[in-house]
Amino acid sequence: MAERMNAQVIVVGAGPAGSAAAAHLARAGIDVLLLEKSTFPRDKVCGDGLTPRGVHQLLRLGIDLNDPGWRRSRGVRVHCAGRQADVDWPAHGGFPDFGLTRTRHDFDHLLARHAQAAGARLHTGTKVTAPLTDAAGRLTGVTAVTADGAATEFRAPLVIAADGASARTALATGWQRAPGRPLGTAIRRYYRSGAFTDDYLHFWADVRCAGTGADLPGYGWIFPLADNRVNVGLGGLPHRRHGATDLQGTLRQWVDQLPAGWDLDEQHADGPSRSAALPMGLTRRPEYRDGLLVIGDSAGMISPWNGEGIAQALEAAEIAADTIALALTRPPGPRREQALHRYSAELDHRWGRYYRLGNTVAAQLFSRVGYRPLVSRRIMTSPTAISVVLRLLSQATADPAQDGIDSVLNTVLRLVPPLRR
Ligand SMILES: Cc1cc2nc3c(=O)[nH]c(=O)nc-3n(C[C@H](O)[C@H](O)[C@H](O)COP(=O)(O)OP(=O)(O)OC[C@H]3O[C@@H](n4cnc5c(N)ncnc54)[C@H](O)[C@@H]3O)c2cc1C
Repeated sequence: MAERMNAQVIVVGAGPAGSAAAAHLARAGIDVLLLEKSTFPRDKVCGDGLTPRGVHQLLRLGIDLNDPGWRRSRGVRVHCAGRQADVDWPAHGGFPDFGLTRTRHDFDHLLARHAQAAGARLHTGTKVTAPLTDAAGRLTGVTAVTADGAATEFRAPLVIAADGASARTALATGWQRAPGRPLGTAIRRYYRSGAFTDDYLHFWADVRCAGTGADLPGYGWIFPLADNRVNVGLGGLPHRRHGATDLQGTLRQWVDQLPAGWDLDEQHADGPSRSAALPMGLTRRPEYRDGLLVIGDSAGMISPWNGEGIAQALEAAEIAADTIALALTRPPGPRREQALHRYSAELDHRWGRYYRLGNTVAAQLFSRVGYRPLVSRRIMTSPTAISVVLRLLSQATADPAQDGIDSVLNTVLRLVPPLRR
């Protein structure tokens, strides 16, 4: 017979979304089980970069940002057609004025420990195999195989799916991905290089695809880390006109023509290149149904503007936890359900119009010609124009507006119709 464990909330997956949700829930005094199939530390294919929006969420979680494992960035250095422009993160508004990098090998372990320290019951080596439902189709928990190979039932009135791009928990309940949302792919490789002593995240808008020579429908990056390594990668969106890009070949070709002094060669490579999918644009709407909340990549929360997903996973985790804390004060039934539907409504309020416009821009511009039109010579040489681009891509505007750039961007976004549920 299967073993059985109960909690108020079960979180499937201890990536940034799941660990942050578990930490917020535990801090609210809620009994939470955090189930993770791997054991920490473990790798996760990522660019390892956090914008100020993500840093803000780490501060809200109470993470120590003075730890030497972090590397701070003061902004972004954009490279295109032999030119470069430095844009610092905005120093006003509600976000910190710096970004961070840290390998996911360390970062995810740190966040999982943080959730545990807050009171979450973390079970690693525990692979969730199926959702459990009652006769009405409402989730009542999950089945899993634990580290010692035992089949176990974990029961709770609410489940959070934070199991990443595979979204197995949502799919197992029949919850499909919404059609027409952008689905990118990205690849990264680590190199040992001390060449990047500046404090910028580096982006390239003029990477050429291997084989075709066309502009990559995406961008390339080099993100310096605290341990004298760099995370080098590129990502792109497929389009019916050019089909899928040979990311491996494109990465090799691009890195080969970067300056030799940067040490981006086989001799300095640290491990192989690895790629993964980027589900973007909010792919499961509304994000709550029948006892199940979806957060992070399982809900396709990666920004269609820049391919960033950690900040969004952390922010949605906090909104989900707040929603649940309120809902659990109400008895099971319509009033509790009403409270749970606020999760999706709050996401709409914060991101709906931004994602709707981003989905259109990704489909009509980035997937066709990439980012080069956004960083033309005229834009690169205008500090105001390039700041507008950075703020738009990283959702770094302040609302209420703190300056003219915020005012313009906020006004544009208010004119966009809300995102459909
Ligand atoms: C190449 C690449 C570069 C990227 N670069 C950046 C970047 O620089 N900055 C940024 O913000 N975003 C970046 N992203 C996106 C970012 O990695 C994701 O958005 C982010 O990891 C989402 O977090 P998550 O917690 O939702 O999912 P994940 O990080 O995927 O975590 C899901 C967790 O669930 C666990 N899990 C899965 N199935 C089960 C199961 N059945 N049972 C138990 N546990 C399970 C997994 O083991 C994992 O720990 C990049 C993505 C890629 C592919």
